[in-house]
Amino acid sequence: MNIHEYQGKEILKRYGVRIQEGIVAESPDKAVEAAKQIMAQTNSKFVVVKSQIHAGGRGKGKVQGSEQRGVALAKSVEDVRQISENLIGKVLVTHQTGPEGKKVNKVLVAQDVFYPGESEPKEMYLGILLDRSKACNVIMASTEGGMDIEEVAEKTPEKIVKEWIDPAVGLQAFQARKIAFGLGLQGEAFKEMVKFVTSLYKAYVDTDASMFEINPVLKTSDNKILAVDAKVNLDDNALYRHPDLANLRDITEEDPLEVEASSNDLNYVKLDGNVGCMVNGAGLAMATMDIIKLSGGEPANFLDVGGGANAKTVEAGFRIILKDPNVKAILINIFGGIVRCDRVATGVVEAYKAIGDIPVPIIVRLQGTNAAEGAKIIDESGLKVQSAVELKEAAEKVRAVVANL
Ligand code: GDP
Ligand code: MN
Repeated sequence: MNIHEYQGKEILKRYGVRIQEGIVAESPDKAVEAAKQIMAQTNSKFVVVKSQIHAGGRGKGKVQGSEQRGVALAKSVEDVRQISENLIGKVLVTHQTGPEGKKVNKVLVAQDVFYPGESEPKEMYLGILLDRSKACNVIMASTEGGMDIEEVAEKTPEKIVKEWIDPAVGLQAFQARKIAFGLGLQGEAFKEMVKFVTSLYKAYVDTDASMFEINPVLKTSDNKILAVDAKVNLDDNALYRHPDLANLRDITEEDPLEVEASSNDLNYVKLDGNVGCMVNGAGLAMATMDIIKLSGGEPANFLDVGGGANAKTVEAGFRIILKDPNVKAILINIFGGIVRCDRVATGVVEAYKAIGDIPVPIIVRLQGTNAAEGAKIIDESGLKVQSAVELKEAAEKVRAVVANL
């Protein structure tokens, strides 16, 4: 589960990580109020207005049909109002949102932390994530933080230092020092960074996160280290241990079809192809997507209806697949192990009748317990559904359908 920057920063603050302070606002009026408060607290006329969406690249991203960037420095209260009006309710397009962009519902009005002082403010990068290949957490750090970190990773990977942390042992003090040293820090800033990394790692572990990415981590002109951004991903499977964190979910940021699927206990992931598929079991679903590709089609989704597929789950699955306008054919591939094929076939027929006329060809492959009875039910239903027993046969029928698209 992804959360917003302002929520990620609240978590960090609880763990003693110094952050760029801010107040979240849902309207230009509230943003102005927030700005006045921050300006009074910081004794500065500048604040930054930051759109809150579940995607990065906001600083370079632009609002659809305007020149407004997703993160902007405001030099007066009037600026704050103008920028907030340009952002709230509008669609922001960044390199992470895709061309359709994401609607901005809230902005974070934050203190300006790039103030002048004894040294230049310096943007660094710090990320913690899970490295499954090493069964470790990995901390990545770079002196080249800011908005072009993807380019740094691609062109000058030597500028990213990595430190692997054995989760059973935890972060050792020498490792935090190695990161701070790798970032070229000295004196007060070095000490601050050691503290920063240590607190950040604790936040990452305690919240069962799979990613904490702070870009930029800023060394201010007076040598403080603070988190200016926070991109956090929490492990869905651990959310039951953290009801307070589960409450941070913002379903307006998620794909509506995926939300509907999860409320029906279906595992659905939307993809870009034209052949929808409904399968029981994640492994079989992956294999089915391969079959669709080998047949010349592109999978429109991953959908695992689980072990106990019945008319209700099949119907919910059908409805979700059909809401995707790209779907031009559907392949149902069910292995009757726990569930009997005749029961699934009855479910398919009932679901079909409940939904009404389904405008795309459907191929149903049933194998396992009572496969023959299942195929008979499909064939005799009088519906425009083709049955197949062997996977090869199903693949050929998909190929024939796809060839006609
Ligand atoms: P992202 O583009 O979605 O990653 O959003 P960030 O929160 O990282 O902000 C983007 C950029 O805005 C940063 O890299 C900074 O250059 C700039 N920025 C953020 N906070 C401030 C600030 O307080 N003052 C100024 N002048 N610039 C800021
Ligand atoms: Mn950032």
